[in-house]
Amino acid sequence: MPESPTTDQLEILQDVACTLCGCVCDDLRIGVQENQIQTTENACALAEPWLLRQNQRQQQHPEINGDPASLSESYQTAAELIRNSRTPLVYGLCSSSVLGQQVACELADRIGAVIDTTASTSHTASVMALQRIGESTASLGEIRYRSDLIIFWGSNPAESHPRHLERFCGTALGDGRQIKRDLIVIDTVLTETAKQADLFIQINPGQDFEVLWALRGLLNGIELTQSEIGGVPLQTLEQLADRMKASQYAALFYGSGLAQGTLPHSQVEAILSLATDLHQHTRCVVRGMRGFGDVGGAANVLSWQTGYPFSVNFHRGYPRYNPGEYSAAEMLSRQEPDLAILVGTDGLDQLPQEAINWLQTIPTVLLSHEDCELPFQPTVLFPVATCGVHLSGTTYRMDDTPIPLRPILQTNLPDDATVLREVLNLIKQIVMSE
Ligand code: SF4
Repeated sequence: MPESPTTDQLEILQDVACTLCGCVCDDLRIGVQENQIQTTENACALAEPWLLRQNQRQQQHPEINGDPASLSESYQTAAELIRNSRTPLVYGLCSSSVLGQQVACELADRIGAVIDTTASTSHTASVMALQRIGESTASLGEIRYRSDLIIFWGSNPAESHPRHLERFCGTALGDGRQIKRDLIVIDTVLTETAKQADLFIQINPGQDFEVLWALRGLLNGIELTQSEIGGVPLQTLEQLADRMKASQYAALFYGSGLAQGTLPHSQVEAILSLATDLHQHTRCVVRGMRGFGDVGGAANVLSWQTGYPFSVNFHRGYPRYNPGEYSAAEMLSRQEPDLAILVGTDGLDQLPQEAINWLQTIPTVLLSHEDCELPFQPTVLFPVATCGVHLSGTTYRMDDTPIPLRPILQTNLPDDATVLREVLNLIKQIVMSE
């Protein structure tokens, strides 16, 4: 059984880490009594309802085709289904701990599956741009203590990562010292973050690339002749380039406004290149504003296990990488997998309808970290414990810093690593007995 505090007195747990978004704030104070979260401090407007929802978890037993089943029956059924599959797919992993991601990777390797993470539907552009041209990065701690200019491009952390501004971009350093820095927001609409900025630059929708390229030109000393680019007056861009050059340490954060849409790869490559160009004048780092779940952890684990961050095919007995061809959404839409092992439900809402339609027709083994409505009936459903709520473990912050997690509630549910390991061991036994 996972370790966990138990008490019938209100116990205040200090320095709890929240895994809901890529900030992984690790300064929460959670009051727990009789295995229920009663109070939360430092939890943002997104985190508090998510934490309180953990009190209401109903699903406690595995199911086979919607009927309650024992764990051993469910392990056996899942193992037999997987053993009989010729083109299995393992997908999800962003609700898992590092250990669960590791075992999922081992299982995929053993059964010759394609393994993919939710990164392939939301972060492909960021990862592939990084692979093509690299990036200048720093930890969020370094940015907090050193940057005197922060630019958010296509990102609205006030709503998507509510404590990001306070924790990493504020002027108070937490030790009595203050730092003076400017906050600039570049976006197509006036966002909540833009309202808090020292300067908001509004650009035309779909013209981020043009504006980024113009800024690169200005930083490289190229004279531009247009009076405006992407809806931004040239004079404003010149002033922005001068402000960037005059900074001691600039930090660029980009969000889904750049990493998704019509030209995501080019746009992300352009902002990574902009940071590199700025190094002719000053120190500059760039980071993607990773969204929900441990997408970064899944990418890290797959990278050190297979050499690739997502969309990896083990069918030939060695890892092959090809986003698109081996991405879950595309494979399911092409009706290629004959079985899906879904580790977590988070990625399901990012799949296209054709992929969901195919999931309704093939056997599915689902490990669910949360009670939720499903768009299909899983063949085998394992409710599993959640890392950081019921289990200790490790997750990755958006800057790839590993953060230790601790349990705050007790549960009888197994963790995803245990379920996957049990199924893997049964598959080995079935193979040996054949
Ligand atoms: S900002 Fe993100 S990590 Fe921090 S408390 Fe809110 S949801 Fe959790």
